[in-house]
Amino acid sequence: MTSLDDLPLRDELRGETPYGAPQLDVPVQLNTNENPYRPSETVVADMAAAVAEAARGLNRYPDRDAVALRAGLAEYLTADGGVPLATEQVWAANGSNEVVLQLLLAFGGPGRTAVSFAPTYSMYPEYARDSHTEWVLGRRADDFTIDREHALGVIAEHRPSVVLLASPNNPTGTALPIDDIAAIVAAAPGVVIVDEAYGEFRRSGVPSALSLLPDSPRLVVTRTMSKAFALAGGRVGYLAASPAVVDAVRIVRLPYHLSSTTQAVAGAALRHADELLGAVAELRAERDRTVAWLRGRGLQAADSDANFVLFGTFADRHAVWQGLLDRGVLIRETGPDGWLRVSIGTPAEMAAFRTALEEVTA
Ligand code: PMP
Repeated sequence: MTSLDDLPLRDELRGETPYGAPQLDVPVQLNTNENPYRPSETVVADMAAAVAEAARGLNRYPDRDAVALRAGLAEYLTADGGVPLATEQVWAANGSNEVVLQLLLAFGGPGRTAVSFAPTYSMYPEYARDSHTEWVLGRRADDFTIDREHALGVIAEHRPSVVLLASPNNPTGTALPIDDIAAIVAAAPGVVIVDEAYGEFRRSGVPSALSLLPDSPRLVVTRTMSKAFALAGGRVGYLAASPAVVDAVRIVRLPYHLSSTTQAVAGAALRHADELLGAVAELRAERDRTVAWLRGRGLQAADSDANFVLFGTFADRHAVWQGLLDRGVLIRETGPDGWLRVSIGTPAEMAAFRTALEEVTA
C-alpha cells in the first residue's frame, strides 16, 4: 500500500491533517455554529421543486456567473446593509470558505503576505498555505477586539496584500467597531476582507462593514447562507465588493464551480428569506440568555454578536468538553487556553447544555 509519505506531497503539507470539527452522532450538537432550526415543509417543497426544475437541464453546465442568484443576494444585502448593491458587486461560491480561498488565489500568492489577528478563524492560515501566501498573525486585545495601534503597526511593517478581519469573530463572537475597520481599510495597501459569516446575529446598533463599501474600493465583505439562513448543507457563501474585485475573482474561479442544483436551492432559500431568517431574533435572545447564565455561574463569557459563546476559563478544558460529551452534548474545544465554545441551539438543547455543565463543574 502506498502511504502519504511515498507521494510527492508539497513539503508544507507533510504532517498536516484535514481541518474539521469531529462529526459525532450525539443528541445535542452545539459544535459547528449551525442553525438548529431545519427548514419547514413549505420551504423543503419549494427547494425540491426548484431542484426538479434544475434537474431537467442537468445535461447542460450551470450558469457560470450565477447571475440570478447574485441578483437575489444583492437585493438581500441592500436591504440588510442599507447600502445599494448591484449584481456586479456580488459574487457567490460553495460556502464563504471557497469565496475567501478564491480571494487569496487572486490577491495573495508567492512573495505576498496575508495578515490577521488572533484568536480568529482557524481556516485563514490554511487559505494562505494553499495559495502560497506568507502568513503573519498579529494579536487581538484582551477583550478580543482589535488593538488599533498594534494592527496598524503590523500592517505598516508587513505591507500585506490581504488583511483578514472576522467580524463577528470566530471563536470569540466579537464584532469590531466600524471605526476600527475604517482605519484599517484606510491604512492597508491591499484588499481588506471583513468576514461577516455571522453578520446577521450582531446586536442592534452594530453597523455592518457593508456600510463602508461605497467609499472603499478595496474592501470586501463576505457573508454565508450557512448560519442565519440555516443552509449549511447547501454550501453557499458570497461577497460584496467593487465590481473590479468580482472581476478579479472570476479569473481564478473554476469554470461552473457552483452547480445548477446549488443555485436552485439557494434561490428558493432567498425566496423564503423571511421565514428562514425568522429564527435569528430567537437565537440572539437565547445567546444573550446563555451569556448571562454563564456569568451568573461565575464563569467568563465573551460578549457575543454571533450564534455562539466563548466561555471559560477551565484549568482542564478538555475534561469539561469530555464531560459534556459523555452527557450527550457536543461543544467545541477551541479558542485561547482554558476557553470552550458553545453554539446556540434550541431552548431545549441549551437547557441540556446547562444541566450537563452544572453536573460537570459541580
Ligand atoms: N468564516 C467564519 C468566521 C466561519 O466561522 C465559517 C464557518 N465555520 C466560515 C467563514 C465558512 O463558512 P461556510 O463555508 O459554510 O460559508
